[in-house]
Amino acid sequence: EVRIEGVCKQYSGHPVLQDIDLHVRPGEVLAILGPSGSGKSTLLRTINALEKVDRGLVSVDGEFIGYRRCGDTLYELKEKDILRRRIEVGMVFQNFNLFPHLTALDNVAEAPVAVRGLTRAQARAQARELLARVGLGDREAAYPRQLSGGQQQRVAIARALALNPKVLLFDEPTSALDPELVGEVLDVIKELARSGSTLVIVTHEIGFAREVADRVVFMDAGRIVESGPPAQVLNAPTQARTREFLAKVL
Ligand code: ATP
Ligand code: MG
Repeated sequence: EVRIEGVCKQYSGHPVLQDIDLHVRPGEVLAILGPSGSGKSTLLRTINALEKVDRGLVSVDGEFIGYRRCGDTLYELKEKDILRRRIEVGMVFQNFNLFPHLTALDNVAEAPVAVRGLTRAQARAQARELLARVGLGDREAAYPRQLSGGQQQRVAIARALALNPKVLLFDEPTSALDPELVGEVLDVIKELARSGSTLVIVTHEIGFAREVADRVVFMDAGRIVESGPPAQVLNAPTQARTREFLAKVL
């Protein structure tokens, strides 16, 4: 569960997020759409404290990101405590960001040893299961350069799952892929959606959003312009800016 309340963010006087309110329920799949520069990535990054907000609060399963509460007062967390809390939020990036010098298996097994205290053997057993889950059970020994973009992205998803995050964020997970590799990554995300994971997905794949998302949010100029079930936002948008955007991308 993610709660975003009154979040504002500027870059050198230029507002990038303007009074964002958003609640992602447990098990919900939320798709965020919007034109380039509308603040989608910045919003995602506030959820795992890669981005500090100027105003407002973000919490994941009741824990404030970047703050701890004492009575009615909030105190900023120290960097090391922010890192600890960030572990609860998985993130999958456009460009996979795998460790090039590690095999697929070690990419997935590394973090749980370092930050969850698993033994090497436990982490590798878990990594094998996760690689099988994303359809890469036979490629555990491959290095990222030996894998296609779609395979690399599936390793990145397995790596994010290995920390058992409370919510998984995807920032345009398929936009760096050749068209014929998009489907295999979307299928893995669909399987996560079916299994009840809480997902927030920035995507330009309108068909995917329509099929998989419980709710679609349309952002423009740092604001949430419109939000609702896919059938409503994508087929019968109430806002002119949403209609203009959809006319361009559909
Ligand atoms: P895209 O679809 O192109 O990925 P986006 O919706 O993800 O766009 P953001 O990356 O969140 O948009 O950027 C929102 C605005 O904030 C843009 O105007 C961008 O130039 C600005 N911005 C983002 N990061 C920074 C930064 N580190 N410093 C200054 N401005 C930034
Ligand atoms: Mg972006």
